[in-house]
Amino acid sequence: MSASAEPGDEAGIVIVGASLAGLRGAEALRRRGYAGPLTLVGDEPHRPYDRPPLSKHVLAGELRPDATGLPNLLPLRARWRLGQAAVGLDRKARRIRLADGAEIPFARLLVATGARARPWPQADGGALSGVFTLRGRDDAAALRAALVRGPERILIIGAGLIGCEAASCCRDLGLAVTVADPNPTPLARSLGASIGGAVVALMARAGVAFRPGIQVETLEGDASGHVRRAHLAGGGAIEADLVIVALGAVRSTGWLAGAGLMADPGGVTCDGACRVLDAGGTPSEDIYAAGDVARWPNPLYGGRLVSVEHWGNAVEQAEHAARNMLSGPEDQAPYAHLPAFWSSQFGVNIKAVGLTEGADAVTIVQGSRASGRFLAVYGRAGHSIAAVSFDQARWLPSYAGRIAAGAAFPPILDATDQPGIEALPPGFPPPRAMRMAPAPGGLHA
Ligand SMILES: Cc1cc2nc3c(=O)[nH]c(=O)nc-3n(C[C@H](O)[C@H](O)[C@H](O)COP(=O)(O)OP(=O)(O)OC[C@H]3O[C@@H](n4cnc5c(N)ncnc54)[C@H](O)[C@@H]3O)c2cc1C
Repeated sequence: MSASAEPGDEAGIVIVGASLAGLRGAEALRRRGYAGPLTLVGDEPHRPYDRPPLSKHVLAGELRPDATGLPNLLPLRARWRLGQAAVGLDRKARRIRLADGAEIPFARLLVATGARARPWPQADGGALSGVFTLRGRDDAAALRAALVRGPERILIIGAGLIGCEAASCCRDLGLAVTVADPNPTPLARSLGASIGGAVVALMARAGVAFRPGIQVETLEGDASGHVRRAHLAGGGAIEADLVIVALGAVRSTGWLAGAGLMADPGGVTCDGACRVLDAGGTPSEDIYAAGDVARWPNPLYGGRLVSVEHWGNAVEQAEHAARNMLSGPEDQAPYAHLPAFWSSQFGVNIKAVGLTEGADAVTIVQGSRASGRFLAVYGRAGHSIAAVSFDQARWLPSYAGRIAAGAAFPPILDATDQPGIEALPPGFPPPRAMRMAPAPGGLHA
């Protein structure tokens, strides 16, 4: 499809998923000159909004849930179908079906349906009042309202980024909070226990009761159906009148069932150009994917399939997919992306670049864990693969390029306050202990 609308082309481009990737993809299409029909379909009733503030400023009461809208960077001239889930895709007829039975034709389709919070595994426990997950604006509004009512004992199940950020907000509100996780430290799966130990210290200082090595098995409610306690594997219980289930995310791919695409709860598989693969592994000419829902062979990782649940990837991949959607088959550019994320919790700004997966060593190259301000680099087989900073982001960009280039580990010697290179085992938990951890590649949801 050329950038200008083809005469008589009524179908145009349809984007399913009206959030960050959907919006930025739509803007990129217009910016690149696409003038044809453009439809955004979203199952939420809201225009695109930003999720990172939900587990930070919104829970803390610093920002209203409805003040999180993403700005439109240029006029979209789009048709919005909000509050309508796409429930099916007919690739041959090039139509998507909506929950109300309507069908929308497309010439090109961008799948940007992201992910949803992994629910509590038992439906009865998950349905108790006082049990929350956090993914969308409405979740954040409901959870914030419950926090304002002043629960006596909060339990957060899962110490990934969202669990930790929520715990930080609870303490800012003066609420008693316990965080339970099967691993020895928070963020153990994403950063390893060596660096996760720094978050244990932050939690202790903030007054969070962190319970490592804990597997919550069931949630029990009272006669009115309100949560009262969590029962633990191996015996014991934690009393709680508010529970936040922070078990990671599941990609929103159910609506693609039966469409003959390579899609499952782990994501939609694409080729290097963000074109979705059919079940036989052939890239579609007209269906692309971007954002949390997509996994693709990332050239920076030797073509390994990677999926990234971070803000920056949703923006960049959507813009890249938009570029390819407007290009011919001979001009499909591969998408290379160095994953990066940030988090703020307990007054500390955490930033990371690269993928820590498979790291065999980590070393502090600036600052110290004892001071709570440091920059750590992860290595695998002598190459630098990732870096994380705690209140020390100034130098992170210097490491990003080297990590992308697979530089030696550690990549920069003689940094000004380098304490001496001591490689530590990163301390990633064994797979057995990761039942409650986020889906592969995912950190946030
Ligand atoms: C609470 C929270 C805090 C976060 N904090 C950070 C952070 O600090 N730093 C960072 O880098 N990243 C953070 N993230 C991650 C970041 O927000 C995501 O990577 C980003 O939102 C992904 O955008 P997306 O458009 O791909 O998917 P999503 O934002 O998940 O959007 C997908 C949209 O598609 C809709 N949808 C799903 N199925 C259908 C269907 N069948 N039909 C129609 N619509 C559908 C969904 O309802 C949703 O609106 C956070 C995420 C959350 C939830």
